Amino acid sequence: MEPYSPGVQAYIEQGRQVMEREQNQRATMRRKKFDTIAVHGLYDMQSALENQGSIIEPAFLATAQHFTNSDHMEAGLAYLMPAWTYARVANPTLHYLEETLALLEGYGFDGEVSAHLTGSGMAAVFLGTNPFLMNDPAHPRPNIVASARCYGGTFTLFTRYANERGIDLRWVRDPLNLDEWSAKIDAETRFVFGEMPANPSLAVIDLAAVAGLAHAAGAPFIVDSTIATPALMRPLLHGADLVIHSVSKSMATSGFVIAGAIISRANIPSKVGPDEMRQNYAAYVKGYPHRDMGPTLNPFSALLTLNDLRTLRSRTDTSSQTAMQVAQYLGGNPAVESVQYPGLPGFPGYETAARYMQLVDADGQAAACFGYLLSFNVRGGAQAARQVFDRLQMIWRATDLGRVKSVATIPMISTHQQISGSDKDVAGLQPNLIRLSVGLEHPDDIIADLEQALA
Ligand SMILES: *Cc1c(COP(=O)(O)O)cnc(C)c1O
Repeated sequence: MEPYSPGVQAYIEQGRQVMEREQNQRATMRRKKFDTIAVHGLYDMQSALENQGSIIEPAFLATAQHFTNSDHMEAGLAYLMPAWTYARVANPTLHYLEETLALLEGYGFDGEVSAHLTGSGMAAVFLGTNPFLMNDPAHPRPNIVASARCYGGTFTLFTRYANERGIDLRWVRDPLNLDEWSAKIDAETRFVFGEMPANPSLAVIDLAAVAGLAHAAGAPFIVDSTIATPALMRPLLHGADLVIHSVSKSMATSGFVIAGAIISRANIPSKVGPDEMRQNYAAYVKGYPHRDMGPTLNPFSALLTLNDLRTLRSRTDTSSQTAMQVAQYLGGNPAVESVQYPGLPGFPGYETAARYMQLVDADGQAAACFGYLLSFNVRGGAQAARQVFDRLQMIWRATDLGRVKSVATIPMISTHQQISGSDKDVAGLQPNLIRLSVGLEHPDDIIADLEQALA
């Protein structure tokens, strides 16, 4: 590499100081509690003074950054100093949100954590997996091992990898069964993917055990933790290498945002790709594949998300308690065939869920806490389920979840409609299944709406 001129080197030195200050801010915030991190992130008093004193993170809506001179531009565009340059590549408002997400997902984790935002959860699933599928003559027969109990979009994306690129896609039908994971993971597995708890089946996974199997085969373990959020579960603590979020859901609970995130720990295993990709996956994706593919989040959406994220823990506590009441009510209603909720002692995987899903900083309260999402099968088949669904008076009929407002859907005709007939069987879906995302309404009113619909 050519030596940089003294002018460029001065900017590189300036960048080093900025990064050092951020490292100190991170160290300070890592000593705070979860709620404090959710409220403040890295945006401290000095950051405010650099932004006209604004006590709330500013929305930088401009497409590009002006540089002092050509030296500054050269240092910034060579990634030699922190710079946001052009809003497809980076943006200060997104940076505030990324730092907050990295701190929350890394809460209690002893190691470096980085985050990268995308324009949707699916873009995060794509950019969190696609780089592992690159061509490598040393590994000509790639396979992927993934829980079939996953979001419909993830199911169709992985099926697309298989159909369009000839990648050997190995679905794990029962993600609680470690023998099934172990039989499918081998020396050519590029990544191991799980979703916990799964949307809409709520299936759970013994994360530490599956991480162990993936690592023994030199593969990264990727976990879609959208439904749990870091308020309930932080997969990095249990051996996951990457955590994927659809930020669109309860993180941005107001329902104004589509966004996604990839959160990585340092030095992940991978059979393919450059060392840079292993060292800091989130930074690698930001600098290269994301820059080239361009699924960028809008800065205004990042600001709305920061705003909702501040109350994540207390909202999760309330909606989890309500969901538990609703699940218990549904379990006792004769019109309901079965209820899937990780907090019910009869649920397969209840013990695994109780081990992994705990309200952060519960401070002596019963910590086991199982989230806002549940699903139930209506007795009488598909038609009966549609009738119950059509009778709801307050709970919205929509393909959405994680909202302040309760929302229901029938996955077979919505989120999983695009999946072919035999694959629906692999995904373990039934036509009489209703998914219910419990909001922040009073539990009595949610139960009353279900009661009249099921009557
Ligand atoms: C919604 C969802 C996604 C996809 O996220 P979008 O933001 O809608 O693109 C991925 N995984 C899970 C578990 C989801 O619920």
